[in-house]
Formats: sequence, structure tokens, C-alpha cells
Amino acid sequence: MASLIVAGGGIAGLSAAIAAARAGHEVLVLEQAPRFTELGAGIQVGPNGRRALEELGAWDWLRLHVVYPHAIRIRHARSGRDIGRVPLGEAFRRRFRGTYQVVHRADLLAALLATAEEEPAITLRTSARVVGFREEPDAVVALLEDGTEARGEGLVGADGIRSRVRAQLLGDARPRLSGHVLYRALIAREEVPAGVDMDNVNLWLNARGHVVHYPVKGGTMFNIVASVNEPWGENDTWGEPSDAAMVKRVFATACAEVRAVLETPQHWMRWGGADRAPVDTWGRGRITLIGDAAHPTLPYLASGAVMALEDAVVLMRHLAQDDNLAAAFRAYETERQPRTARIVNNSHKLARVYHASGLLAAGRDAFIRFTSGPASFDRMAWLYDWRP
Ligand SMILES: Cc1cc2nc3c(=O)[nH]c(=O)nc-3n(C[C@H](O)[C@H](O)[C@H](O)COP(=O)(O)OP(=O)(O)OC[C@H]3O[C@@H](n4cnc5c(N)ncnc54)[C@H](O)[C@@H]3O)c2cc1C
Repeated sequence: MASLIVAGGGIAGLSAAIAAARAGHEVLVLEQAPRFTELGAGIQVGPNGRRALEELGAWDWLRLHVVYPHAIRIRHARSGRDIGRVPLGEAFRRRFRGTYQVVHRADLLAALLATAEEEPAITLRTSARVVGFREEPDAVVALLEDGTEARGEGLVGADGIRSRVRAQLLGDARPRLSGHVLYRALIAREEVPAGVDMDNVNLWLNARGHVVHYPVKGGTMFNIVASVNEPWGENDTWGEPSDAAMVKRVFATACAEVRAVLETPQHWMRWGGADRAPVDTWGRGRITLIGDAAHPTLPYLASGAVMALEDAVVLMRHLAQDDNLAAAFRAYETERQPRTARIVNNSHKLARVYHASGLLAAGRDAFIRFTSGPASFDRMAWLYDWRP
């Protein structure tokens, strides 16, 4: 049994802790926030994500809180008409041998937290901000902001897109900005304007922006995400409250359904869209990375959190198979790199395609129409066919 330190207690960090504990190791999770919390927003989880959650033992808790949409509807924001759809019913379930669900991020984190708390080998610490690490021949020492240290035989950086562990390990520059700003809002079901589709994931495409919405929390809440072309300034703060004026401007000529959705929330929060170009490897010796710390992606394939869950399952297998931590970490990275790089690169391309106008938009729509319905399954097989 080895002792591992996990820096960060988000979706990736808690998943990594569960994985390492199940592989027979002791784990200390260091989370900078005073509590394990996630902001109110939704997350889409494909059948691959569900399988990863089952493998980590968190699905039984989570399944009580998910919503199963009937389809992903891809629609024209201006005209309101459907361009294409991915049906998520019986045919999808048969094809991918699993369900497609949408969840509240807080429920996903709570499911992972409840699972981690049941593992005696996991110690959870909050208000513990990791600012760096020191490598020793047989150990890694995590350095905390309060001047204390935590020693383990291995370190997993799960501290998100602006990871301190990654900064010291790889020394790469700041994340690359996509030129988009993402706005998120959550409203109660009763507030959803009449006539708005609550049964499906709706993806509205417009020039210079797109909107996604779907119900969460067993259908009692409604999640809205809008992404628009907008610069993100040096002094802007991630997750700051906003009036979403830019979103309303971009969608000013959209159909009544979209405008009604965007007019309803009283509170919006905004983030600068950012990712990092994939790297060949994200580990060294007794240190590795997981989730957004390893491969932060734009959210346009709705797969960042699910990649963290898959990462954890693969890490669990290699930790169980190999007593040598460094060897297990390298095998995990080698297995995960191609798939996560594909997610990052494809999401990056979609950023342009989603907000296109003119000929590019016409070509996009023709493609979506051509591969609509069950024909869309083949297009998505590489993503959803993953299994542990
Ligand atoms: C608008 C939007 C929509 C999305 N939709 C989806 C979706 O539908 N499906 C999907 O799969 N993914 C989606 N994602 C992606 C997903 O949110 C992320 O990939 C996921 O949250 C990454 O989890 P993480 O734990 O790696 O990082 P984070 O969520 O960033 O968590 C990092 C954790 O580490 C802590 N931390 C940070 N620094 C330190 C430190 N120095 N010391 C200690 N602790 C630290 C933080 O407090 C936090 O708890 C979306 C993202 C966005 C922005």
C-alpha cells in the first residue's frame, strides 16, 4: 500500500481518490475551498460517463438525481426550426448499451463525495491550498499555502485548468483563450416560460453564439448555458456575476423561444472559454495529473467532466496492476493521452463551427441534417462506446 496525495477535490480529485483507494492505496485529498462544493450548473453525461461512475461506485447515489432527455435537438436560433436531432431513447440505449443523462454538478460532486467518505482509506481536507511540491527520492511533498507540508509516495494534480501542480511540473503558459465567454444560469422549473422545450437537450445555433438548455435535479431546475464571441479581459474574474447583456445582444433577433429563455434568469455567471493544446505526457516520476489539470477542454463536446471520470477508472486499473507508482502513472497517461487529445482538438474546432455564419454555417447545417436521427450514432461512437 502506498500513500497518495491528491491536490484538488473537484470531480477529478474525488474520482482519483476513490480510484486510488479502491486500488489499495491510502489517499489524502487537499482541497483549497472551505467546503467540497460545485456551482449550480448542469452537466451532460453520456453512456461512457455512466459506465465510469458505475465503476467508481458512485452511480447508485447519482441515479436518483438524473434526468433522461428524449433527444438532443439541434436548432436554428433565428427560425426556431430543427436542423437535426440525436434521439436518446430506446435505439440509442440499445446501440450504446447505456443511457444518456443530464445532472446538476452539485449532485455529481455529492455522489463522488458520498462514495469517497465511505472509503476508510481516504482522508479529506478542506481549506488546504497546494502552492507547489518538492520531489524526494522516495516521496513527494506537497507544499501548502499556510506553510505546512503533506508527504506522500505519489502526487496527483487534480487542481483544474489553472493547476499549480501542472505549472511546476510542465511550466507551460497560461491557458489559451477561445475568444468566447460562457454564461450560465439556473432557474426553477416554475420559472421556465411556457412553450419552452423541457423534454430535450436543446442546442440553439446562431452566428457568434450558441445556447444549450436542459432540465436538471430530477426536472425541478432548468440549466441554461450561452456561449458568445466576446473577448475576455486580463482583469475579468472567472465565475463572476453578470447581466449577460452580450448574450441578449447576440440573440436579439432570435426566435421568441430563445429570447424568452434568455430573458428569464435574474442571475448569470460568466467564464472566459479556455483550454490548452494537448501535451504528449503530463507526468514525471511519482507525479501525474488528472481531469482539467491534465487536458482542459472547451465544453463543446460536453465531455470535460466525463473525461475526468474515465481518467480515474483507467488510473484505478493501472494502480491495481502495478505496485510501481511511476510505472502505473506512465501507463495511465499513455492510455489516456490520445482520447483526451481528440476531445480537446475536436471541441476546439467546434468552437468555430458552432458560431459560424454564411457558407460555413450552411455546410454545417447540411452535415447535421445528413447525419440526423440514428445516423448520428456512428458519428458519436468513438465518444460513447468507451468502456472500462
Ligand atoms: C459551460 C461549461 C459546461 C460544461 N459542460 C460539461 C458537460 O456537459 N459534460 C462534461 O463532462 N463536462 C462539462 N464541462 C467540463 C467540466 O466542467 C470540467 O471538465 C470539470 O469540472 C473538470 O473537473 P476538475 O475536477 O478536473 O477541475 P475543477 O472542476 O476545476 O476542480 C478543481 C478543484 O481543485 C480545487 N483547487 C484548485 N486549485 C487548487 C490548489 N492549488 N490547491 C488545492 N485545491 C485546488 C478547486 O477548488 C476545485 O475544487 C463544462 C464546462 C463548462 C465551463
